[in-house]
Amino acid sequence: MKKITVLTDLLEANDVMAQENRRIFDRNRILTLNLMSSPGAGKTTVLEKTVEKLGKKYRLGVIEGDVATSNDAKRLAKYKIPVVQITTETFGGACHLDANMIKKALEKIDLTKVDILFIENIGNLICPAEFDLGEHKKVIVLSLTEGEDKPSKYPVVFRNADLLLVNKVDLLPFLDLDLSLLSRNAKKINPRLPSIKLSAKTEEGFSDWINWLTKQYNAKSKKRIASCGRP
Ligand code: MG
Ligand code: ZN
Repeated sequence: MKKITVLTDLLEANDVMAQENRRIFDRNRILTLNLMSSPGAGKTTVLEKTVEKLGKKYRLGVIEGDVATSNDAKRLAKYKIPVVQITTETFGGACHLDANMIKKALEKIDLTKVDILFIENIGNLICPAEFDLGEHKKVIVLSLTEGEDKPSKYPVVFRNADLLLVNKVDLLPFLDLDLSLLSRNAKKINPRLPSIKLSAKTEEGFSDWINWLTKQYNAKSKKRIASCGRP
């Protein structure tokens, strides 16, 4: 009973901090996305390609979450965009990012120079789903090599998501995988979850993801203009 109370308090404190982060994003006109996946699903590769495709149109920034190492941050820093690495080793080796870690990372970024901020969460399909970071949209990256049953096994992360990116579709010919079964499993958990199939490696389907991002950014800007127009 006590344990449950502690967890509830922890999540409530996190939500308060997440709201604060969201206000910071909105004040600075930033669209923020929280990318979640298992380890090795290809989040960093998706981000690299995204920066290559979208880096001229929008000012992008990345917060990288890992338990240890700054390997992924180094991969993105070569694009000369703001990248902040969070290693949770210093937070007791947490297996997820929380709103407080993001708040601290934001102090290291010039937010007036960012249009879209990507948060690459720690590779884990369980608790990242429970922690609101203040993002506007949650994106799951799922690699084809993970099989069809991930949505059924990890329902929370799928239930809360705004987009499912099915990555590594270039491997389809080599795998014994039923893509339509994967889609059905995801729909069972979250019937409104849109999905995009792509390969960050071959770029197949990648323009769908870029279009989705552009649409989200434009929708957010429109909302802002509408609310600005009110007396
Ligand atoms: Mg990574
Ligand atoms: Zn965790």
